[in-house]
Amino acid sequence: MSRDDTIVAAATPPGRGGVAVVRVSGAAVPRIAEILLGHVPAPRHATFARWHDAAGELLDMGLALYFPAPHSFTGEHVLELHGHGGEVVVDGLIERVVELGARRARAGEFSERAFLNDKLDLAQAEAIADLIDAGSRRAAQAALRSLQGEFSRRVNATREALTALRVYVEAAIDFPEEELDFLASAELRQRLQDVQQRMAGVLAAAEQGALLARGLMVAIAGRPNAGKSTLLNRLAGHDVAIVTPQPGTTRDLLRERVEIDGIPVELVDTAGLRDTTADAIEAEGMRRARAAIARADLLLFLVDAAADPRAESFRQERATLPAGVPVVLVLNKIDLAPETAVPQAATSAAVPVLAISAATGAGMDALRRHIAARAGHVEQGGGAFSARARHVEALRRAAGHLEAAHRQLAAKQGELAALELRAAQQGLGEVVGDVSSDELLGRIFSSFCIGK
Ligand code: GDP
Repeated sequence: MSRDDTIVAAATPPGRGGVAVVRVSGAAVPRIAEILLGHVPAPRHATFARWHDAAGELLDMGLALYFPAPHSFTGEHVLELHGHGGEVVVDGLIERVVELGARRARAGEFSERAFLNDKLDLAQAEAIADLIDAGSRRAAQAALRSLQGEFSRRVNATREALTALRVYVEAAIDFPEEELDFLASAELRQRLQDVQQRMAGVLAAAEQGALLARGLMVAIAGRPNAGKSTLLNRLAGHDVAIVTPQPGTTRDLLRERVEIDGIPVELVDTAGLRDTTADAIEAEGMRRARAAIARADLLLFLVDAAADPRAESFRQERATLPAGVPVVLVLNKIDLAPETAVPQAATSAAVPVLAISAATGAGMDALRRHIAARAGHVEQGGGAFSARARHVEALRRAAGHLEAAHRQLAAKQGELAALELRAAQQGLGEVVGDVSSDELLGRIFSSFCIGK
């Protein structure tokens, strides 16, 4: 399909509402406005207008806004009609615009045109979709930062530093007699280190943003009866899990999405871990529990501090827990526990220890703070950007090429180092969309909503 055609879609969601906005973008907009409204509205002024069907019947009336190219969201001529929010009225208008030569827009097509017309880069266009899909305040803030171009600016600054470095290295390769001295120079090493540092900063902020978008996954594990369900209910603020004094009540994973300090958190209450069980359903529950723990961003290992003040259950379980998942030892039921329980468990745990009572709520603020802290502290460095797995993957790849370049320089392999630097630059380019295939663009924009 060509980009010369004119597209139309409702920009507001389907259903009933006070107002619905229909957006038209493309070269035919002035002609369509002329016929539909009887005139082309003054640019960028809200104008009252009526729109009619082919037989001259009134379809609806409302506000018309005209944004001539290139000063519009898509960079093309855009007409926005703000009418009454009812499906029949909106459908009637869209059909009429199609009759006048436009076609219905595909999902994400307005944003895609904005990208193709250089109104936004790819990371910014993706931030629009992330802003719309944001599930928490912090995720929305991160998306707004990316939409305003902060993420792209950091990526581009790194690219510029990398370009300068490549010019430097490639010039040296052209003068072989000086190359070896040059490759060993402190200045070159310093420059590469500088680029690597920038890259690490962007990558950390992007990882943070990706985590904000998908949410933090926090698994709650521990022996049956440690109080896992009670803790889940307390963090969720309402009853999600059944709590009974009978061990082994939770046989399957219970999941609950909560917001802690503006961060979306998915809590997973795992089945009680115990070494052996004759019950097949419970055994399956434990298998799932271990799988969930392996995927978690943070594991709260809960111990009944009254029954197990030395946290023996944690000590026994420890070796079986996945190495990459950060663990907090949470001593529960401190309302019943001897006062010595906390220091006893803390001295030998070698992981952070928090004491709480899921029943009374004691210690819960500190636990919430600890969970939020796991989402990171980039806030001081200007905050996270909304970022996607695609960005994180491209940046990690680029960082890997920089490391390889570092090794090649140390081995005085100038040509190979130059190749690695070029590959790193390509990875950065993918983030903002300088190097992107049609297939990738299709995949990205088709996940947007229609009308966006
Ligand atoms: P789970 O098997 O680990 O999910 O444990 P539950 O949440 O079902 O709790 C087991 C029992 O311990 C229930 O009777 C809870 O009411 C009780 N319980 C949980 N947390 C506390 C606590 O902090 N203090 C006291 N006193 N009892 C608790």
